[in-house]
Amino acid sequence: HAKSRGRNTFEFFSQAINRGVRERLDIENGLRDALKHGGFKLHYQPQIDLTTGSICSVEALLRWRHPLLGVIAPDRFIPIAEETKLILPLGLWVIDRACHQLRAWRNDGIAGVRMAVNVSVKQLQDESFFEALGSIVERHGLSGSDIELEITESAIMENLSRVQALLKSLQDYGITLSIDDFGTGYSSLGRLKLLPIQSLKIDRSFVHDIETDHGNAKICDGIIALGHSLGLKIIAEGVETDAQKNLLQNSGCDAIQGFLIAKPLPADDVAKLITQVNGMT
Ligand code: C2E
Ligand code: MG
Ligand code: MG
Ligand code: MG
Repeated sequence: HAKSRGRNTFEFFSQAINRGVRERLDIENGLRDALKHGGFKLHYQPQIDLTTGSICSVEALLRWRHPLLGVIAPDRFIPIAEETKLILPLGLWVIDRACHQLRAWRNDGIAGVRMAVNVSVKQLQDESFFEALGSIVERHGLSGSDIELEITESAIMENLSRVQALLKSLQDYGITLSIDDFGTGYSSLGRLKLLPIQSLKIDRSFVHDIETDHGNAKICDGIIALGHSLGLKIIAEGVETDAQKNLLQNSGCDAIQGFLIAKPLPADDVAKLITQVNGMT
């Protein structure tokens, strides 16, 4: 009896594991297919400069619908793309698509907005990344200073020595480097000071209950003060309410991003919003 129960438990887990392996494989194959035949889209979420009230940047965010599994969130498929190295061609597709969009907006008279792109540390470790990036930027008639790259705090801190020289080259090329999800990883002050970065994005887990959680409010204040003392610009992500915006503004935060302003939107919708908020130039 006990033996058969043991086998059932084993079968239960082995089926669950098989399902997990199967889904992961479906995602991997789906990624390959979408890279070859198209299937990815970018949405864009605006960032508001709190001193001017205008949209200073938009962040490009990947969107993907798997033909069988439906919409899959980037937090699910990006790690698989990283493990399989598919992030290298996918990451270049994102940069190319985002630059293409920024160029199209410029041609339509929408100026003064920069493009922020998320990059995986796997991309930074690829020797051909800098050259590939530069040639995409130039092919679209843009310059380094039109682009911001966002790198998550944990990824950058774990690979600091390997990517430091590249970060310096990117900075020399005029690209702005931001640390994403700041506050969730482990950054010593000494290492933060050594990084060639221009801004910190406060992770939304500290922002979402800033009105009720005194500790998180203090953490946001601390990040803003620390960042400013190092000459960095501070952006808060995940801002959903006016109260959150006002608290951050009073603490000296430089820019905000979040559902209060807009969700990540298709290109045409975000273009309308930029024109509305910034006016035509
Ligand atoms: P992230 O770069 O920190 O992007 C912010 C995430 O927060 C986005 O989720 C966005 O939709 C969401 N968000 C923005 N404002 C709010 C808000 O007010 N409230 C709430 N609850 N959420 C908000 P998304 O689009 O699902 O992306 C998740 C993560 O996937 C990104 O986090 C980024 O790390 C990664 N990712 C997305 N696109 C790319 C890409 O092209 N390349 C790489 N390497 N990673 C990407
Ligand atoms: Mg980001
Ligand atoms: Mg983030
Ligand atoms: Mg994130």
